[in-house]
This record gives sequence, C-alpha cells and structure tokens, in this order.
Amino acid sequence: MFSSLSKAFFHALSRSRFLKHVASRYGMRKPTSFARRFIAGETVGEAIDAARVLEGRGMHHTLDLLGESVTTLEGAYAATREYLAVVDAIVQAGIERNLSLKLTQLGLDADRASAVDNLRRILERAEPAGFFIRIDMESSAYTDVTLDTFETLWHHGHRQIGVVLQSDLRRSEADLQRINALGARVRLVKGAYREPKAVAYQSKTEVDQAYARMLKSLLLEGNYPAIATHDPAMIDLARAFARDRQIPPDRFEFQMLYGIRRDLQNKLVADGYRLRIYVPFGREWFPYFMRRLGERPANVLFVLRGIAAEK
Ligand SMILES: Cc1cc2nc3c(=O)[nH]c(=O)nc-3n(C[C@H](O)[C@H](O)[C@H](O)COP(=O)(O)OP(=O)(O)OC[C@H]3O[C@@H](n4cnc5c(N)ncnc54)[C@H](O)[C@@H]3O)c2cc1C
Repeated sequence: MFSSLSKAFFHALSRSRFLKHVASRYGMRKPTSFARRFIAGETVGEAIDAARVLEGRGMHHTLDLLGESVTTLEGAYAATREYLAVVDAIVQAGIERNLSLKLTQLGLDADRASAVDNLRRILERAEPAGFFIRIDMESSAYTDVTLDTFETLWHHGHRQIGVVLQSDLRRSEADLQRINALGARVRLVKGAYREPKAVAYQSKTEVDQAYARMLKSLLLEGNYPAIATHDPAMIDLARAFARDRQIPPDRFEFQMLYGIRRDLQNKLVADGYRLRIYVPFGREWFPYFMRRLGERPANVLFVLRGIAAEK
C-alpha cells in the first residue's frame, strides 16, 4: 500500500518543473552530488568510465541514454542520432556492447511508424557490431505496442534484441509463455510504474508471487533470462531453484541498477554469478531519478543529506 502511494507521489513530483529545475542545477554538479549515486553522468564519456570500473569488478553492463516521452518527430530523430553516436563511442572505447532504450524516447507518442524506423536505424548500426539491444518496458499504456514492435522485429530476423516483462501486470504470465515460445531473451522486473488495479496487482505479496512464478518459468524454459531485482528473497529463490534443477550459472544472469544494493552486487559476483548493471546516463535523468526515489523512501533522506552537504 505504502509503495503504491509512494510511487504515485513521486510520479506526481516527477512532473514538477520547479523540482526538475532545482535537481538539474544541483543533482549532478560535482562528483559527490546526490544524483550521481544513481546516474553515471550526463555524457557518454562518463558512462563509459563507469562501465570500465564495473568491468574491472567482473560485472557486465548495459548503457541507457536517458530520455522518454519525446513528443515531436524532431526530438525523436535527435534521440536516435544521439543513440547512433553512443553506439560509435562504445565501439571506439572497446567496452562490452550492450544497450537499453525506450520506444517513447524514439518517438512512439509522436508517430509509431517513425519510432519503429528509428529503432531499425539503431539496430542496423548496432547489430553488425555485435551489440545486444534491450527494449525497456514502460507503463501499461505501452505494453501492447512494445511487445508488438518487438515480436515484429523478431520475425523480421532481428535476434540481438530482448524485451522486459513486469510481474506486477496481470497479463505478463501469458506474455511470458509467448516470448518463451519464440526463444527470445526476457528481462524480468517487478515494474516501476504506478498502474491501475484493473491491469496490475496492487499488493507487494501478489507482485512477488508472480515474480517467483515467472522466474521459475524463465529458468526452465527461457533463453538466457535476466533476473532483474534487488530483492534478496527473489535472488535467493533464483539461486536455489537453479541449483536444484541443475541449471548452470552461465545460463542466466542477474541484473541490478547502478548504485543500488552494491553490497548484493559484489556478493553475487564473488559467488560466481553473472551480473549486469544498468548504467543510466544523459541530461534527461530527472524522471528516472524520481522513480528510484519512489521505490524507497530512505533514498529521499540520502538525497536531502546530499543537498544539505552541497556548498
Ligand atoms: C536492470 C534493471 C532494469 C529494469 N528495467 C525496467 C524496465 O524496463 N521497466 C520497468 O518497469 N522497470 C524496470 N526496472 C525496475 C523494476 O521494475 C523495479 O522497479 C525495481 O527494480 C525495484 O524492484 P526490486 O525488484 O528491486 O524489488 P523491491 O521489492 O522493490 O525491493 C527489494 C529491495 O531492493 C532494494 N531497493 C529496491 N529499489 C531500490 C531503490 N530505488 N533504492 C535503494 N534500494 C532499493 C531495497 O533494499 C528493497 O528492500 C528495472 C530494474 C533493474 C534492476
């Protein structure tokens, strides 16, 4: 209950221009500024530096150029050009080639066909260079179009792409069966958006139970699934289930967000599991940042302490 109120509250705040202005001014100003805990930086160079540090710790990464809800075609083309430049920068840097992106960033709200064209342009540059591209899942208003786009591209032969399913959505277990049958790669998450009762479980227990069922189905029938969570109970369940069914640790990976539960991140790697860190960067970090605050009220104290310490 609290979690859904908190998500709603921070979702509302994320639309405040005043807060965005204040946060943009102070959040990333210095290496110690409060938003840097969760955001690798505003430039691709900073993201690449962060990725190199993670590689040095034995972790994998996926870089995400932050941006969403682009409403004009010009904005969508600009985001696409930026992504193409990120592809080139990653190749040049020689780091692992893995990206995450959002369809609304590529113009889904302006024109669906253009958003798909933009995604194709990115895939045409990235796939021959050996990239894996994950299409993030946004709010339930976009579930159908995101899965449709993904499945169409898959049927057109794009195989270095993957999708995300959210265990808080009632429909996701049916979607999972279809995606498993395709043999496509799924990232399993609980869901970061505030969703209505008609489409989503509202209690943590129900969301967790669905996550546990989907996790087992992915480990048994999925293609190199990504178990994306910071929840120790879900991580322990995945480890125990894989061990019991003799599923080796190289058949799946864990994923966590940059700056969250670094203790668990280090432990998983030390225990011999594959871990990929989602590394967000870019100027448009405010909505992402607010979603992270909404997930955990203690983060607000962390941010307030950071602001108080700013000189
Ligand atoms: C790699 C990755 C990619 C993701 N991609 C998507 C996506 O495409 N679409 C989407 O809707 N969601 C995405 N998410 C977010 C996800 O849906 C959840 O909102 C988020 O992961 C929190 O849920 P949890 O599974 O960690 O469990 P929870 O039950 O929310 O949290 C479990 C524990 O994790 C820790 N924790 C969780 N969140 C935070 C936080 N913000 N700050 C500090 N500690 C925290 C706390 O210790 C908490 O008790 C992604 C998450 C990850 C890890």
